[in-house]
Amino acid sequence: LVTRMQEFGETIFAEMSALAVRTGAINLGQGFPDQHGPRAMLDVAVEAIRSGEVQYPPGPGLPELREAVAAQRLERYGLSYDPATEVFVTVGATEGVAASMLALAGPGDEVIVFEPYYDSYAATIALAGAVRRPVTLRPDGGRFTFDPDELRAAVGPRTRLILVNSPHNPAGTVFTRAELEAIAGVCREHDLVAVTDEVYEYLTFDGTEHIPLATLDGMRERTVAVSSAGKTFSVTGWKTGWITAPAPYIRAVQTVKQFLTYAVSAPYQRAAAYALGNETAWVEGLRTSLQAKRDRLVTGLEAAGFVAYRPQGTYFVQADIRPLGFGDGMDLARALPERAGVVAIPTQVFYDHAKAGAHFLRFAFCKRDEVIDAAVERLARLG
Ligand code: GLN
Repeated sequence: LVTRMQEFGETIFAEMSALAVRTGAINLGQGFPDQHGPRAMLDVAVEAIRSGEVQYPPGPGLPELREAVAAQRLERYGLSYDPATEVFVTVGATEGVAASMLALAGPGDEVIVFEPYYDSYAATIALAGAVRRPVTLRPDGGRFTFDPDELRAAVGPRTRLILVNSPHNPAGTVFTRAELEAIAGVCREHDLVAVTDEVYEYLTFDGTEHIPLATLDGMRERTVAVSSAGKTFSVTGWKTGWITAPAPYIRAVQTVKQFLTYAVSAPYQRAAAYALGNETAWVEGLRTSLQAKRDRLVTGLEAAGFVAYRPQGTYFVQADIRPLGFGDGMDLARALPERAGVVAIPTQVFYDHAKAGAHFLRFAFCKRDEVIDAAVERLARLG
């Protein structure tokens, strides 16, 4: 059977999580926490189901969640959005990004992405019939960043969108104001729309600030910002996300979303609304705990002989495998469960220029300390 998406095959997360289950290896591949979100938030969802909230909610989302999102953007970033026309609920950030691509990029349009990129970007750009133009993030001074000249060179007459993920999965970079200014400058000069994926907006370390692109000069009017509850409240399986953007963009995205999924499960929307308004202290605790887990994993990977890049945000560490005598991350990722009892993600699958990422593995640290310790102990026997 020939299908239009067959070149995309199975996602690397499905492949590697299945490998972990099959071999019993410790799964530091797919990024999901092994501890629950705040109890009171879980109770809100349970209570919503018990009280009979089981039919279709409004397509654009429950007013309660849209108001909570508008309040969060205002309080945290000083960005003002009208909950009735400028906030929209999606099935996770995944649908937010996909519906934005389908709504805003057409056949032959070009979309700039920073590689390594989150895997759904390439697939949804392809679904839209558009073409991706990757700008490569490379290690420089211990963090992954881009060359502004390469960004400018990636813009052509067909460029419509730029997809900006910060904090960045899988590189772990949180873009600085200077980096965001370079992006904003290109958007203003070439009249591009930015779609920002901010799912790790709370999960930054060492005082690093997450700066939404929409807060920069002239950017609110041309930015579609996507986020979700999954990472912030450790409920990656709830698939409850949202978009904030000027009304014409929201309408365009809504036109697509109504035919993809129509609406989003109401109990999870209630719980996300509650959490946005009431669980910031819990999230701060999560952030602090993740920072310690990051350091725990980095120290362990270094002791095992990898060169590890300490991320400024997210759940993920990039590890260079060359000091251990390995050259190809895909080969190593496939062998690692048998050889060491650990699963990691080969970063090269997130590149068009696979060679640029051939020697990196991505390890997740959103796991209990004893799980991280057991994994690095096993990896230490690899060399
Ligand atoms: N975002 C998760 C990660 O990067 C995976 C989510 C998924 O499986 N699609 O690991």
